[in-house]
Amino acid sequence: MSFKFAAVRGIPARRLFGGSVLFILAALLLTACLPESEPPVTTVEESRIVMGTLARLQVRGAPREVQAALQEGMDRLARVEADADGEAVRALEAAAGTGAWTEIPASLYRMLTFAQDIARRSDGAFDVTAGTLTALWDDARAAGVPPSDAAVREARSHVGYAHLELREREAGGVHRYEARLMLPGMRIDRGALIKGYALDEIRAQWQEGALGGALADLGASSILGIGRNAEGEPWKVGIRNPRGESSTDMLLVMPLTDEVLSASGDDERYFMYEGKRYHHLIDPHTGYPADTGLASVTVILPLDPPDDPAWAAHMGMLSDMLSTAVFVLGPEKGSQLLDAFPSALAIMIGTDGKVL
Ligand code: AMP
Ligand code: MG
Repeated sequence: MSFKFAAVRGIPARRLFGGSVLFILAALLLTACLPESEPPVTTVEESRIVMGTLARLQVRGAPREVQAALQEGMDRLARVEADADGEAVRALEAAAGTGAWTEIPASLYRMLTFAQDIARRSDGAFDVTAGTLTALWDDARAAGVPPSDAAVREARSHVGYAHLELREREAGGVHRYEARLMLPGMRIDRGALIKGYALDEIRAQWQEGALGGALADLGASSILGIGRNAEGEPWKVGIRNPRGESSTDMLLVMPLTDEVLSASGDDERYFMYEGKRYHHLIDPHTGYPADTGLASVTVILPLDPPDDPAWAAHMGMLSDMLSTAVFVLGPEKGSQLLDAFPSALAIMIGTDGKVL
């Protein structure tokens, strides 16, 4: 593998913008002039705020097809943001601790099943039931003050993937998907996989079209690269220096072709208190931000994996979960987790800003 050092794109949009969907940029049309014998190739691009981040989609191909593909990609993003499963998650949480099963959509069932797999493999370092804890730390970040030990202990008592149960069954000739949370007050947090899930959705849409190349960049931390860019080269993605002077300070540039990338870093959402950094990646075992010497983890996976076929079509979600899990586990245990996914390429950067 070769690293190229060059100026790159990559905007930590989460820090620049917040809030809900806000259409900010109209479609930009760039037409590349090719020799007459070649069919014309056009690149269209659109950016908008979605899921609290600046999402940028670029599609390259025949003029007839690119605009529709761009629109379909944006529609998929909007649909994930509108969150058809939100109601089901709320119903599931409302029934927490009662022992009652809640019917959930198949898409949410699949998402939770994959999350449980990574929770087991990571010994709970990745835990989709960490909702009470992550909410506590979100509030702490807003207040700029860490929570008390007692508050952390209390929140942690409502966390544990072993207490999330899933089942499928036939009822009245209908296949039903169901889930239940066994502890009162348990909450689901899909923050560590929703962007990867969105990329999987976009990819499924784009795969159907004959595109020359396409890039979906969800705030630089989740990126899908299909085919090649206008120069006929792999798409290029900058790996940010988490201890850099500015957000455009890149440590290296990675090529991305028919691959998906996810990054988790302690420089994304954090606050400083009495000289200590408190970030958003929480170790469910301690209840505190993970402290394993890592400042960022990037995981790149091929879209067509030679690994476990069960993960095919879900590589966005997998890379998203793995980057979070490896960050929380730290370099050694994180590497052991990655051993099960030999096609994964991981870039770990230490709190000293050096690539491990
Ligand atoms: P990411 O930036 O993809 O690593 O995801 C970070 C988000 O995942 C956080 O903002 C939380 O919502 C959630 N999260 C934090 N820690 C964990 C954890 N240990 N397991 C699962 N989700 C987590
Ligand atoms: Mg993630």
